[in-house]
Amino acid sequence: MSHDERLKAYTGRRDTSVSGEPSGGEPGERPIFVIQRHDARRLHFDLRLEIDGVLVSWAVPRGPSLDPGEKRLAVRTEDHPMDYAGFEGVIPRGQYGAGTVVVWDTGTYDNHSHDRRKQPVSVEDALDRGHLTFWLHGRRLTGPFALTRTPAAGRQESWLLVKARGEGVDRQAHLAENSLESVLTGRTNHDLAEGS
Ligand code: MN
Repeated sequence: MSHDERLKAYTGRRDTSVSGEPSGGEPGERPIFVIQRHDARRLHFDLRLEIDGVLVSWAVPRGPSLDPGEKRLAVRTEDHPMDYAGFEGVIPRGQYGAGTVVVWDTGTYDNHSHDRRKQPVSVEDALDRGHLTFWLHGRRLTGPFALTRTPAAGRQESWLLVKARGEGVDRQAHLAENSLESVLTGRTNHDLAEGS
């Protein structure tokens, strides 16, 4: 599928000339990830992984946890264009996803996905199979994480985001609850809403 086709759901849902959101962008040398704290009708975190030239996206209502015992619901949403990774701002009232967006974490990632026989799997295949493991190199998040699609039926795919054991485990941190500032600008969603 071409990038334009993959981004049809994204462009069909919003008028980026009004919302101020990005519409393009090119892949870089290493695959990137971003997590945006999106204070919309309901607060959530948008996890996006660069796969095949677009940002494959999940909305995580409670955000990531650093405790391997915590499973976080991650609802698959539409692929976003690469430039979305740097987007921070106010989506005006009346637009899709109206509210404030800050970049809560960003960096690169390595694909560590494998099949049941422990053979490496490309990130594209892992996405199709419904089980991704990846190593984040972010400012707040480092180390291995896993995303697993659940069999639950519904209009959107439900996945579970879990911290894998090893580097970056912290059962006390409660990062998503305690760290509100953008890693790019230090601003919070509240700052953006207040117009500072
Ligand atoms: Mn969102």
